[in-house]
Amino acid sequence: EAKRQGRNHYQWYNDALNILMQRRVLLRNELQDAIDHHQLELYYQPLFDRQGKVVSVEALLRWPHPHKGLISPAEFIPLAEETGQIIAISEWVLEQACRDALRLNRQGDCRVAVNLSPLQFYRSNFLHTLEATLARTGLPGTALELELTEGILMNDTQFAIELLRQIRRLGIRVAIDDFGTGFSSLSYLKHLPVDKVKIDRSFIQDLAEGSHDAAITRGIMVMAHQLALEVVAEGVETRHQFELLNGYGCDYYQGFLLARPMTLPALSSFLSENRQRLLTAVNK
Ligand code: C2E
Ligand code: MG
Ligand code: MG
Ligand code: MG
Repeated sequence: EAKRQGRNHYQWYNDALNILMQRRVLLRNELQDAIDHHQLELYYQPLFDRQGKVVSVEALLRWPHPHKGLISPAEFIPLAEETGQIIAISEWVLEQACRDALRLNRQGDCRVAVNLSPLQFYRSNFLHTLEATLARTGLPGTALELELTEGILMNDTQFAIELLRQIRRLGIRVAIDDFGTGFSSLSYLKHLPVDKVKIDRSFIQDLAEGSHDAAITRGIMVMAHQLALEVVAEGVETRHQFELLNGYGCDYYQGFLLARPMTLPALSSFLSENRQRLLTAVNK
């Protein structure tokens, strides 16, 4: 009896595994189709300074799936990392973001931030790809920002530091994304050639006066400012969070409270309205 049950469990486990694997194969093939047919899209989410001015926008990948709707990058980026499809995707993202940035900058200053994948960063020719993309698109490096997670930087810190130095020589700014989630010692920050840290959404979510998250957020902010780094809060969803962060001296804000990720045309009108509103405010 025990033996038969064991077999049944094994069978069940095997079937479940098969279904999962089939689903992954299907998703991988569909993703390849989307890459081949240029169906991936970039959305842009604005980042605001303390005066409410948009200073930059973050490029966020979207996969409009024929049957499943918009698929989040949180779902398909990990898959693309495993299959290596991330390389082709990343090259397209960089090129497209630079072209879009060029168009946006005809309207006024606005940097574009691109998220990097570990595989992309550690490829031997990444610096060359960057230089070539800037040259091909005609975008000045100063209009581009790159976002890397702590995980990427911890992978091979010496290599990362050297590469970041070279990247910043092109005028490109560098931000550490999802900061505070990496379990790494905070003191390593002083060794990293970066411009800003983006405090992870998980700390902002439950921000309340006197909470642990408030203490961590303020701590990160004090330390970053001591090191002459700028601080961004990501995932700002409520007025209350915004006001607390403002009181702590946060430099930049990103979140659904202020603006959601949007298409390039939508962003373009959003930016004109943002500039108009600030002009009106100044002239009052
Ligand atoms: P991330 O770089 O930390 O991007 C911020 C994520 O938070 C985005 O999710 C954004 O839509 C979401 N977000 C912004 N404000 C709020 C808010 O107020 N509330 C909530 N609940 N969420 C907010 P998204 O677009 O789903 O992207 C998820 C992750 O996928 C990104 O996290 C980034 O790590 C990765 N990713 C996105 N685009 C790319 C890309 O082009 N290349 C690579 N390698 N990774 C990308
Ligand atoms: Mg990011
Ligand atoms: Mg982030
Ligand atoms: Mg995040």
